[in-house]
Amino acid sequence: MQHAIGKLIVLTGPSGAGKGTLLKALLAEHPELYVSISATTRSPRPGEVHGQHYFFLERAEFDQMVADGNLLEWAEFAGNCYGTPRQPVAEQIAAGKTVILEIELEGARQVRASFPEAYRIFILPPSFDELENRLRGRGTESDEVISRRMTRAKDEIAAANEFDIQIVNDQVERAVQELATIVFPVDTPVPTS
Ligand code: 5GP
Repeated sequence: MQHAIGKLIVLTGPSGAGKGTLLKALLAEHPELYVSISATTRSPRPGEVHGQHYFFLERAEFDQMVADGNLLEWAEFAGNCYGTPRQPVAEQIAAGKTVILEIELEGARQVRASFPEAYRIFILPPSFDELENRLRGRGTESDEVISRRMTRAKDEIAAANEFDIQIVNDQVERAVQELATIVFPVDTPVPTS
C-alpha cells in the first residue's frame, strides 16, 4: 500500500452552518488545497455544475459505486445519498496534498473508523434560529426539506464534541481565519483541546 503523505481534513456541521462558504473562502486564499467532489443523488440546485460542485448521479449509478467499493464513505441525508469517491482522495493524499472532505456526520464517523489520523472539524452555527434563517434564506429548498434538515441538524449538533475541534461560524472572515490556522498549523499550533 502506498504511504499517505498528505493530510486528510474532515469538515462537518449541520446544513446551513456555512461549511461551503467557509471552504470557498479558504480555497480562494489557498488554491493548493484539494476539496473532494462528492457524488450525490440529489438534483442540482440552480448554478450547480456536474463535476464541479457534485457528481450528480442516478440512484442506480450511486448504488453501483457503493457495490464496487468506490466510495470512501457514504450516507443518506434528507432523502438523498452522498458519498466521497475514493480514488481522487487517495491520489491527492499520495501526492502530498491536503485534502478536505465536506461531509455530514455519518460519513465523518465512517472516515474516523477507516482513517483515524484524519483531523475532524465541526462547524457550528451561532444559534439554532440563525441556522433556520440561513436555510430558508437560500430559497432553494421546500418547507419539507428544510424541516428534515433542521431535525437532522439537532442530531448533528449533539455530536459536535466527537470532533477534534469546533468552530462557530458567527462571522465568515473570523471563522475562515480560525479554519486556516487549523488547516495550516505551521505558524500556529493546532489546539489540543
Ligand atoms: P447539500 O445537499 O446541502 O449540498 O448537502 C447536504 C449534506 O450532505 C451537507 O451536510 C453536506 O456536507 C453533506 N455531504 C456532501 N457531500 C457528502 C459526501 O460525500 N458524503 C457525506 N457523508 N456527506 C456529504
